[in-house]
Amino acid sequence: MTEMNCPTCQKTIEYSKQNPFRPFCSKRCQLIDLGEWASESHKIGGKSAHEEMFSEELEQMIKDSLLK
Ligand SMILES: [Zn+2]
Repeated sequence: MTEMNCPTCQKTIEYSKQNPFRPFCSKRCQLIDLGEWASESHKIGGKSAHEEMFSEELEQMIKDSLLK
């Protein structure tokens, strides 16, 4: 089996087709990484109203997933 580290939490996980969140260990880590990517892109360029809405939705998703 192939092992790799989750880019978010560095946990060693099995890289397999069974894992729908690969290369992340879980949905939580996937959302955290997406959230960082979104805030990073906001810093670089200007943002449209659509992007603003999207990032608010994403932030809410991240908050929800962290609370669970
Ligand atoms: Zn992880």
